[in-house]
Amino acid sequence: MEDVIVVGAGPAGNNAALSLASQGYGVTVIDSRENIGDKLCTGLVGEECFRRYPIDPALVYREISSARVVAPSSEVVRFETPHPVARVVNRVAYVSSFADKARAAGAEYLLGRRVVRVEQHEDRISVITDDGAMEARSLVLAAGFGSQLNSQLGLGKPSDYVVGIQAVVETDGLDEVEVYLGRNVAPGFFAWLVPTRPGYALAGLLVRKNAPERFANFISAREAEGKITELVDKPVCWGIPLRPLRKTFTDRVLVVGDAAGQVKPTTGGGIFYSLIASEIASGALDRALREDNLSANGLGAYQKEWKGLLSKELEIGYSARRVFEFLGDSHISSLIHQASKNGFIAELASSPDVSFDWHSSMISKIMGHPTLGGALRLVNPLLARMAKAPEPAEVFSTEAALAESVTPV
Ligand SMILES: Cc1cc2nc3c(=O)[nH]c(=O)nc-3n(C[C@H](O)[C@H](O)[C@H](O)COP(=O)(O)OP(=O)(O)OC[C@H]3O[C@@H](n4cnc5c(N)ncnc54)[C@H](O)[C@@H]3O)c2cc1C
Repeated sequence: MEDVIVVGAGPAGNNAALSLASQGYGVTVIDSRENIGDKLCTGLVGEECFRRYPIDPALVYREISSARVVAPSSEVVRFETPHPVARVVNRVAYVSSFADKARAAGAEYLLGRRVVRVEQHEDRISVITDDGAMEARSLVLAAGFGSQLNSQLGLGKPSDYVVGIQAVVETDGLDEVEVYLGRNVAPGFFAWLVPTRPGYALAGLLVRKNAPERFANFISAREAEGKITELVDKPVCWGIPLRPLRKTFTDRVLVVGDAAGQVKPTTGGGIFYSLIASEIASGALDRALREDNLSANGLGAYQKEWKGLLSKELEIGYSARRVFEFLGDSHISSLIHQASKNGFIAELASSPDVSFDWHSSMISKIMGHPTLGGALRLVNPLLARMAKAPEPAEVFSTEAALAESVTPV
């Protein structure tokens, strides 16, 4: 019997496996994919993440210190920071590098095997795959968005999510990240062109409904501008949780990463938070394994600790996201225009509050700005309430979002 079975070899699962195997525990990682890390993602990761979880420079496509934001009015505003704030990386290679280290520390990997059921017993966990069963003292569930295993374990689903769609494109002269806003492009969210290798980029968008149709329109518009010359592969859709699970632990089980909803609700980026949370999970599991107290009570410290670090960001980010979703095109265009004209964008870009991964200070700065914050608070009394208090209002129904089926296309 293993000490720990990890389901999912994404950033969360591999980092948990690395940390636990390095402490001498017997760890087996199971993933239904053959190719580790090969999951829909843009590979944009903040500098702080690389300081904590270094990357081989050969895996970096680009450093990012500027972006062009295209308002619904078509006005283009440039956002430029004095230093790089993020890098675009080869996501598969970056995620695999954690698995390589975990293997070197003694973790076993079973690839191409789907976990179909998990059974909790008083003294162990049984993990049933499509090719046999295994037992362990504990389980780290790192199966990403939409895993049925969460529900099987009585942990529910994230109460809100968005659909991401993306494909590789060939580009002509694209050298900067471009972000597109507006109801015609990606209502309430955004679309992107992120250059990777010379002549190539990732084109994608986040949206609650009609992702393939929206994506086709976005690509056509960029083709018409001559920016995209060819769609290289088929677009793929996947879900991104916008809210964390209420409970991320149960007897002998911890949930981490997208499976737990540990994702920035502003942008949908989840690699860094998955890595942080998996480290916290490994620490909590180490203590519980040593004390042989793997009951929910013994594992609850995990949730307390990750919430202590991430909760404020997730709550403020989610409130800001909902405020943004309520803005009309003219409002967004006018706010961007004013922010650019009065120098606020330049001020924000050079401020220490700008971080690729921690958005609450930046949001507070925007809300505190006399013109922009004032204009945002004028939109609707509900928005003002949300902007002041990070608690998301219950009135936002998530039914429509949950009705969307999320399938690779
Ligand atoms: C379009 C798009 C763009 C994104 N861009 C970025 C970005 O630029 N930067 C960023 O930080 N984040 C980005 N994200 C989010 C990021 O990809 C995730 O937050 C991150 O991968 C979460 O890591 P994870 O380990 O929790 O889950 P995942 O990376 O999803 O890994 C889960 C693993 O579990 C496996 N699995 C699932 N179910 C089972 C099962 N039953 N049995 C066995 N194995 C199973 C899967 O095969 C998968 O390998 C993006 C997401 C999308 C959809």
